[in-house]
Parts: sequence; structure tokens; C-alpha cells
Amino acid sequence: MLFYMHERAFPRGNDPRSGAGTVILFKSPFLPALVLSVELHTHSSLSHDGRDPVELLLGQAEAVGLDALAVTDHDEIDASLEAAELAPEYGLVGIPGMEVTCAVGHVLALGVEELVPAGLPYDETLDRIRQQGGIAVIPHPFQKSRHGVAAYVTDDQLAGADAIEVYNSRLLTGRANRKAERFARARGLSMTAGSDAHISEMVGQAVTDVDADARTSGAILEAVAAGKTSVVGKRTPWRISFRQAAGGAKRRLHRRVDELLGTVRG
Ligand SMILES: [Zn+2]
Ligand SMILES: [Zn+2]
Repeated sequence: MLFYMHERAFPRGNDPRSGAGTVILFKSPFLPALVLSVELHTHSSLSHDGRDPVELLLGQAEAVGLDALAVTDHDEIDASLEAAELAPEYGLVGIPGMEVTCAVGHVLALGVEELVPAGLPYDETLDRIRQQGGIAVIPHPFQKSRHGVAAYVTDDQLAGADAIEVYNSRLLTGRANRKAERFARARGLSMTAGSDAHISEMVGQAVTDVDADARTSGAILEAVAAGKTSVVGKRTPWRISFRQAAGGAKRRLHRRVDELLGTVRG
């Protein structure tokens, strides 16, 4: 129990009980940069085609060892805001956002806290996201059947986004992903991955490693827009199930310790 509490006090330099947005980070030029494992594209049951509540998505993100999670429902934001608020309880940084259906297809709005309306022109959608201080990431751009925008915008418009999702784990063949990666490389654009999870088990299938200055949503998105990312791709299933089991047990223990501490503190 004591060992556990010690471990909880210093998980990856951040104490989740200290509240959302609080950073306890020792930075030294002699330490390696802070690389965070981030899941940028997931759907909750608030999406018409999603299944699970945000608690299950957060639980899975914690279990597979992620540092941050964005819930990005189709044209809805309420569950994402809830997830961002709950995230610290799971030792995670919550990134609020949504997947906007603009006039020509899907755009991920990350770091926004107000709904970006559906159906607006592509350029205006990007403007609206940035007006809120968010960043625009183009998911599955070359997958026309899944509302990728590339067929309907110019290359310059596509390159006007803050990042391109070059690995979407829901694509059956790698062709559209490779095309997105080639485009991003040719244009020197930032690259991200997204599991596009519609069920919690898929969370963490495609991870973006982000070289951030701090463990906050703002620092992560700033680093994403600056291209300080690497795309991790698919995690092996056995590892997920192992860590999921371990994570569940750990979380139950956390709750018990918090309860006990609560009792002591009165
Ligand atoms: Zn989509
Ligand atoms: Zn999606």
C-alpha cells in the first residue's frame, strides 16, 4: 500500500489529484525531452456511431499507458468536455475537441471548447477552430468514402491545416494512409495518428508521440502544430489486454487509498 502511494505521488511527473491543467514538471537540459503518448481521435457514445461512455475510453487510455486523450465526437462536444474534465482522475491530460463535418468532409478540431457548427466551408471551419485557439487536423484525408476532404479541396487548402492524420487505424488497407503521409512529407506538414476508435478497446491503436514542453493540452497541441510528433501506429493486442487488467486493478486500489485518505482527513 505504501509503495503504491509512493508510485501514485510521482506518476510521470504529474499528480492527477492536483487538478486539471496543473503541471508539476522538473525540466533540466540534462534530461531528455518530455515525450507524451497521445491519442488524438476517438468517439464516445455521443457520436451516432460510437458505443462507449467517456469513462470507458479514459479507462482504456490509462490501461494502455497513454498520457493524453482527445474524445472527438461527430458534430458534438459535450462528452469531450466531460472527458477532458475527468481525465486527471485517470492520470491523463484531457484534450477537448470534436470531429467537425464541414461542407466537404471531416476536420478534427482539437483544443476547442465550443461547438464548431457542421456544414460550413472548409476554410471557414479551419478559421473557426483557430479563433477558439484550437488546431485543425485533417483525418483520413484521402479516404473519400469516409468523408476525407482531399478530393474536394486544393492541395494548398489541405496543406493549410495544422496537421495531417497520416495513420488512421480504421483504414482497411494502408494505401490512403501512405498517400496522406506522402502528402504531409512533401509539404513539410505535421503528422499525427488516430485510432478513430468507436469502441473503447480500440483506444491506443494509433498513438502520436508528442515532444511537448509540458503536460498540458495547450503544450501538446502547440507541439503537434509545430511538427514535434512521431506516429507510433499499432500496439500489440496482448500488451493491451495485459495492461488493461493491470490498470483496472491499480485504479481500484487508487480509489481505495483515496477513500482511506479521505476518511483520515475527515
Ligand atoms: Zn472521420
Ligand atoms: Zn472519427
